[in-house]
Amino acid sequence: MKKMIIANWKMNPSSIKEANKLFDSLLTIKNNDSKIEVVVAPPFVYLPFISLGSEKTDIKCASQDVFWENPSVGGGAYTGEISPKMLKDLYVDYAIIGHSERRKYIGETDEMINRKVKAALNEGLKVILCVGEPLEVRKKGKKAAMDFVKNQLQKDLKDIKKLSVVGRRSLVIAYEPIWAIGTGVPAHSNDALEMIKYIKQLLAKSYNLKARVLYGGSVNSKNIIDFVKHNEIDGALVGGASINSKEFKKIVEKINKLNN
Ligand code: PEP
Repeated sequence: MKKMIIANWKMNPSSIKEANKLFDSLLTIKNNDSKIEVVVAPPFVYLPFISLGSEKTDIKCASQDVFWENPSVGGGAYTGEISPKMLKDLYVDYAIIGHSERRKYIGETDEMINRKVKAALNEGLKVILCVGEPLEVRKKGKKAAMDFVKNQLQKDLKDIKKLSVVGRRSLVIAYEPIWAIGTGVPAHSNDALEMIKYIKQLLAKSYNLKARVLYGGSVNSKNIIDFVKHNEIDGALVGGASINSKEFKKIVEKINKLNN
């Protein structure tokens, strides 16, 4: 199956000029026969330029968040928020939901995340749902980490079964242990593999879903293969290394070579 690689630019770069430059440099990515699904997630202010620019390329576009309501006549009274419909209108393919930085700094709860997931899927916007345990939980061992992630998934995907169509391509899970994000210390690939297998089992059992599950946390061109060499790890969500175009392109190149 195609591996997926997501560039989460977070709150970078600091100008539209740099954002366009970064995106343009990705257009030279050699994605042999489109063997990899490459997705770029820029900040909202750059999204129209990137998503409309990506239309004629193999690169897909994601937002870094989405709200749970759509504008309606006399509605839309949610200052500062962006709806799934607005993103669909801009040809945005995916919405990242529940990133740990939003859970931590913005105070997003599982209940809010669940509403966002349902609203996005209802509108046909694909979802990249981020889950992962903090360090204090991981320190208690694998079982504690698995229980933590199971609890997040149960809450974040509550009532998803009731959605009419959740195709296997509509929902992607990114397993991102919080202690590995932006620290330069990735999870051991065997631990990531174990958790990802567990998440897949849970999804199959509880939701009859066969979603793609990615790893995220300090991925770079040196360690990417440790993760994606495993069939069960469907790709990676890359933060810091994705705003260095050379490094990001190297990551894609390495996966391409693996596929050949
Ligand atoms: C992320 O932003 O989800 C992420 C994994 O960041 P980094 O690659 O910098 O750890």
